Amino acid sequence: MADKYQNFINGEWVDAAGGETFENRNPANWDEVVGVFPKSGEEDLNAAVAAAREAYDEWRLTPAPERGNIMKRVGDIMVQRKEELSRLMTREMGKVLAETRGDYQEGIDTAYYASGEGRRLFGHTVPSELPNKFNMSMRMPIGVAGIITPWNFPMAIPTWKIFPALLCGNTVVFKPASDVPATATKLVEILLDAGIPPKAINLVHGSGSKVGTPLIKHPDVDLISFTGSSEVGKIISSESGKDLKRVSLELGGKNAQIVMDDAKLDLALDGVIWGAFGTTGQRCTATSRLILHEKIHDEFLEMLLDRVAKLRLGDGLLESTDVGPVVNESQIKTVEYYVNVGQQEGAKLAIGGEVAKDGDLAKGWFYKPTVFTRVTPEMRIAKEEIFGPVLSVLKVKDVKEAIDVLNNTEYGLSSSMYTQDINNAFRAIRDIQCGITYINGATIGAEAHMPFGGMKNTGNGHREGGWTVYEFFSEVKVAYVDFSGKLQRAQIDNY
Ligand code: NAP
Repeated sequence: MADKYQNFINGEWVDAAGGETFENRNPANWDEVVGVFPKSGEEDLNAAVAAAREAYDEWRLTPAPERGNIMKRVGDIMVQRKEELSRLMTREMGKVLAETRGDYQEGIDTAYYASGEGRRLFGHTVPSELPNKFNMSMRMPIGVAGIITPWNFPMAIPTWKIFPALLCGNTVVFKPASDVPATATKLVEILLDAGIPPKAINLVHGSGSKVGTPLIKHPDVDLISFTGSSEVGKIISSESGKDLKRVSLELGGKNAQIVMDDAKLDLALDGVIWGAFGTTGQRCTATSRLILHEKIHDEFLEMLLDRVAKLRLGDGLLESTDVGPVVNESQIKTVEYYVNVGQQEGAKLAIGGEVAKDGDLAKGWFYKPTVFTRVTPEMRIAKEEIFGPVLSVLKVKDVKEAIDVLNNTEYGLSSSMYTQDINNAFRAIRDIQCGITYINGATIGAEAHMPFGGMKNTGNGHREGGWTVYEFFSEVKVAYVDFSGKLQRAQIDNY
């Protein structure tokens, strides 16, 4: 019998008002139902927003250090439940256990960072241009935060948003991805166990159209933080723009790793295997393109294909597995579509390129790690996000061409250059149009205390992580205190 999950609305665990449910199955084994979840709609969403609004006044007036103390308890509870919930995440969305542990650890790190931020939330004091007057700025909460998250980081991404939102004094309505509702429910349980006031956190399961859209449009929701595809991001941006809502968008990527002729090739090989096939290529920062200097192109390609051939597909819970399943059928179809496009465009399918059906793999969404060679910059497989275990290899003659090819996409999230030449490295840091550039590291692997996000169509300029996300979830307020006892007119009386 599958576990039955509920929404958390207005301080209570409840079914969807309409009584409907949906199942979530393990992508590595369709026979296993991970859970049954409420298929909610606008009525549930409206109740959640009303509760969050009601809770706002008390929560915003709770001292920020006290909010930080609750975040410390969140981190402590997360530490205790790490193994149990990492395993649940692997069953729910497929990535290998080492990676779901990493995803979960990022949540723990984010909780402890938030805890410390409760005693900072710095404002400024600035000298006044007038005598006997005091100027200061401070950070204020904004109101009800709508949080919409994707499935590929079921724990880390919700914590990146919900923890700073709450720490800043906002209340939350959380709509997780339909592929990972169990992990989202566990996160809300942890927040409640740690002492977040029940009405301050609301969880509504259901589809993007039935729950996500009304959340964006709701007049009582003050800000939206969204991570997902650029396609949905554009809809959210235009809808929320109608009410001038504050919106943070973290969207797609088409990330590349450059390997220069002076690079340490073994190191670069480890980087691209991890970057391209970690999380089965389903990371926003996944290495989707490999840009090789012509002098090392043939040698490196041989090393690459040899390693890719040895990658073991399987259930992410098994120690022997290197690469887990793709998350669902629709994602498999997208991968198949792009593999066809690549072949039609004239790229060479060097390895992979098909669904894996051997033995137990036949019961899940498995796709063989795939490499295209002879890819040129104008091909669609060199420019569009695929979000699966597919790597496109391009050849370049020098550092300038390498960076130009890397920049030749609408996205700008992560990037990497392997080189021993400091001049190449700093040129990459300066000229690559991405929010993140690694030197001698893979395109994946963000640290929780560093700003995270992208340029161009990867987002709208906000950043998650680190100190910057607190700027998104709070409003700057300025106060002037005049203790001169007379009317003082700025820009007039002192000039
Ligand atoms: P998605 O299809 O855009 O869905 C993301 C979330 O939005 C889900 O909760 C989804 O609900 C919801 N949603 C869908 N349509 C909606 C609508 N019309 N209105 C409101 N909400 C809606 O993306 P995904 O497939 O889950 O995730 C993969 C994408 O996320 C990739 O493009 C990847 O690059 C990107 N991503 C970006 C970052 C980053 O930080 N830049 C990080 C991770 C992932 P349902 O699940 O119910 O459909």
